[in-house]
Amino acid sequence: MGDMRHLDWPFFEERHRRLARELDDWASANVPGVDEHDVDAACRALVARLGAGGWLRHAVAGREHGGSAETIDTRTVCLIRETLARHSGLADFAFAMQGLGSGAISLAGTARQKAEYLPRVARGEAIAAFALSEPEAGSDVAALSCAARADGGGFVLDGEKTWISNGGIADFYVVFARTGEAPGSRGISAFVVDAGTPGLAIAERIEVIAPHPLARLRFTACRVPADRRLGAAAEGFKIAMRTLDVFRTSVAAAALGFARRALDEALARSSSRQMFGQRLAGFQLTQAKLATMATTIDSAALLTYRAAWQRDQGRSVTREAAMAKMAATEGAQQVIDAAVQLWGGLGVARGVPVERLYRDIRALRIYEGATEVQQLIIARELLRDFDAHGAR
Ligand SMILES: Cc1cc2nc3c(=O)[nH]c(=O)nc-3n(C[C@H](O)[C@H](O)[C@H](O)COP(=O)(O)OP(=O)(O)OC[C@H]3O[C@@H](n4cnc5c(N)ncnc54)[C@H](O)[C@@H]3O)c2cc1C
Repeated sequence: MGDMRHLDWPFFEERHRRLARELDDWASANVPGVDEHDVDAACRALVARLGAGGWLRHAVAGREHGGSAETIDTRTVCLIRETLARHSGLADFAFAMQGLGSGAISLAGTARQKAEYLPRVARGEAIAAFALSEPEAGSDVAALSCAARADGGGFVLDGEKTWISNGGIADFYVVFARTGEAPGSRGISAFVVDAGTPGLAIAERIEVIAPHPLARLRFTACRVPADRRLGAAAEGFKIAMRTLDVFRTSVAAAALGFARRALDEALARSSSRQMFGQRLAGFQLTQAKLATMATTIDSAALLTYRAAWQRDQGRSVTREAAMAKMAATEGAQQVIDAAVQLWGGLGVARGVPVERLYRDIRALRIYEGATEVQQLIIARELLRDFDAHGAR
């Protein structure tokens, strides 16, 4: 489905091209059969299917723990998200959360922790969640206050987490909590907490414009054994940032998938819709829209796969990932809006593809670092280089 010419770009190896085509075929056969009316059931079904299809192996690191490679390949994760997003926002969500939710274990887990969780994540038998945000700590995440107090050889968690994707259906939550070794970001540790642990409650299910499982969690004297801490004490913030670093570029890729689908839908509709004696695509005003949409998509794709390729070379991508995330999510919003416009009244009818895309794209400009946060990151990098070298 859709234009796949970008697979010829030099950022990719043959294995990437093969994977993207195979996944596109797989998704055409396996995604439409999932009833998305009940998002909990749909997500469970999608995770199980993605696991059975072998796709979730790419979301975890380490072959001995069920991963497809020793480290997570960013280009692979991006191609998977782009492809799934073109088919279904929920399928992309199900894949992405298995990676984000278990990423801290892949990066910082002990051999025992990895063996316990990662193979089940990779097979689609355990659903993962990443619990960082709090009601009073979103963009300013170092302000988080959920506390983990050392007690009798373990930890006791008290506090709240909110906007937790997969909240309510996850089998485990990677939770970042204040252990207080130092103020701010230097006093946070990471823990893996199984669903069903006494003291962990789903305080509220949150409904959003693009429905997926989402919840506010409450920890009340929630006792966690010492061997559930991920990494060393006070390393939690670093682990959270490293996890987000792996997956930030893939948010851009998901936006790209949504935008590509929107352009496909815009081309299809404007080529068939008749008005004023010709098809909608015959008007130059329409052609200008289509040209801008395609150019926005290619610019975003170039930035996305530059960042992914660069990360796979083992190089830092702070600036490149921020540029990709900002350009791809903001660009996709514009592309999708143009597609809705071209569809006319039908574009806002509930359930048509462009109406769904219009809702699917919005949160991507907010989570994993809002656009404003990406702007600050890019400017900080620019100014640091300029101050150090007097140049970009
Ligand atoms: C659908 C969805 C799923 C999510 N899933 C998860 C999850 O699984 N796990 C998790 O931990 N969190 C999750 N989040 C939370 C997400 O990471 C936060 O929403 C995000 O970090 C922004 O925090 P906030 O909502 O508190 O907004 P705020 O921090 O209140 O920010 C509000 C706005 O302020 C602006 N802003 C931010 N910083 C600056 C600045 N320095 N200067 C000027 N303006 C600024 C931005 O426009 C931002 O949108 C999810 C959120 C959504 C919407």
